[in-house]
Amino acid sequence: MSKLIVLSNRVSLPNPDKTTAGGLAVALQDALNDIGGIWLGWNGEKIKNHQEPYFSSTEYKGVEYITTPLTEEQYSGYYCGFANRTLWPAMHDRADLIEYQPEEFKTYQDVNRLFAQQLSEVAHPDDIIWVHDYHFFSVARYCRELGMQNRIGFFLHIPFAGSNIWNLIPTAQTIIQDLCHYDVVGLQTEYDQKQCMDVCHHFLASQVIDSNVLSYNLRQITIQCYPIGINPELIQKVAQQKLENSHPVFEFDDLADQKTIISVDRIDYSKGLIERFNAFEEFLKEYPEYHKHVTDLQIACPCRMDIPAYKNLYDLIDSKVELINQEFSQDNWQPINCTNETVEHGALMKIYRQSDICWVNSLRDGMNLVAKEFIAAQNPNNPGVLILSKYTGAAEQMSEAIIVDPENCGDMVKGLKKALTMSRSERIERYKHLMQGLKRFDINDWRNAFLKDLRRVELFNIFKPSMRKTYNHRAHQQIYT
Ligand code: UDP
Repeated sequence: MSKLIVLSNRVSLPNPDKTTAGGLAVALQDALNDIGGIWLGWNGEKIKNHQEPYFSSTEYKGVEYITTPLTEEQYSGYYCGFANRTLWPAMHDRADLIEYQPEEFKTYQDVNRLFAQQLSEVAHPDDIIWVHDYHFFSVARYCRELGMQNRIGFFLHIPFAGSNIWNLIPTAQTIIQDLCHYDVVGLQTEYDQKQCMDVCHHFLASQVIDSNVLSYNLRQITIQCYPIGINPELIQKVAQQKLENSHPVFEFDDLADQKTIISVDRIDYSKGLIERFNAFEEFLKEYPEYHKHVTDLQIACPCRMDIPAYKNLYDLIDSKVELINQEFSQDNWQPINCTNETVEHGALMKIYRQSDICWVNSLRDGMNLVAKEFIAAQNPNNPGVLILSKYTGAAEQMSEAIIVDPENCGDMVKGLKKALTMSRSERIERYKHLMQGLKRFDINDWRNAFLKDLRRVELFNIFKPSMRKTYNHRAHQQIYT
């Protein structure tokens, strides 16, 4: 029977003791549980360069988890290097931060080949393979070189840059060519879908069959938008539950004249944290009557600290928060309360519900799940307000939020004032529309839509005679020879 094989950069083994309120891991886990299958990826560990990476397998509830450590060289060239110092800034329109080292690109390709080899070891011809994110643009190409004809899909969780940015990466053409070895390429937004079609056409002169189908090198590639969702009903339930044994991250005051803003971000230059703090500072200057009445809660999770741009930003945020607090604190009120702790998902849903405003300020963001989760966690009778950057994927579907330009300080100050003064009836009205949208296409719809399109892939791609001749892997020989 056909099984599902998921490949993502990081694989965390499921922890049955942790409460969770949905999310990508659970959606993929559900799919694997339903269909049966394998989850493949890096286990997050590093080993010395002279040691050989090895794959090990664990089974949990009928799903096989196959993981490997990476060598220090692979970690630095593939993960910190080409994935996060070239592709990440490029896809987030940060031309100024793109670095390119040929040897890092080579390591990226080597790691992609390593996972392709592992896929060829475990996949049977009728298995479907779902590859996730920018770490693996080239996996399908290596799978095809190994003779695999499986249906292979790719979902990009981050934005897709335009040709002007791709032109800055010396190996752009190779990467785009590699991408066209997938059968289905999924993007977060209509905008990204169009960029992807245009970029493929620009670099490969591929033939456009339809608004979402390309033909290149005798293959047809479906390029489609599947905006990732959440599980709104589950989040609503978790947000109401009492959480036993969890220590409160922030103290909340229920007084009517006390408002709280929550922001939850990885410390990443794409999240617009400094721009947001600048706007909050400006707001406090312009509206002194809000001093002691509005508190900004920031969960800022450090990540990728081995990359200098991330470490620098961490320090910058630290000093910015300190400056604002020094300037405006009075009595026992300080305007910003920032933690670098990662908050357990269920506890975070409660924090959302207790907050009056959620402010998402990304300068560029594939989707932004925090925006969606905040709405789902609200009390329907007294919901909070979402301030949302127009450059998030979420803004394409959440037009009832207060949409702001994260690079325009005045616009953000206006947005915050509007959020703080919005009537309950308007909050309810906006919340209803937003919640309907979340339910209309939730995380399961996202997963099912992608897998449905992948299953439908034309036999044209699968049974190309030229591929059949070179096809000799042992798992596949059982059927094709
Ligand atoms: N998150 C969490 N605890 C934290 C911070 C974040 O569980 O302390 C979760 C958050 O609920 C969301 C995800 O991490 O599901 C962040 O996703 P998002 O799309 O907003 O940003 P990303 O980090 O993927 O760019």
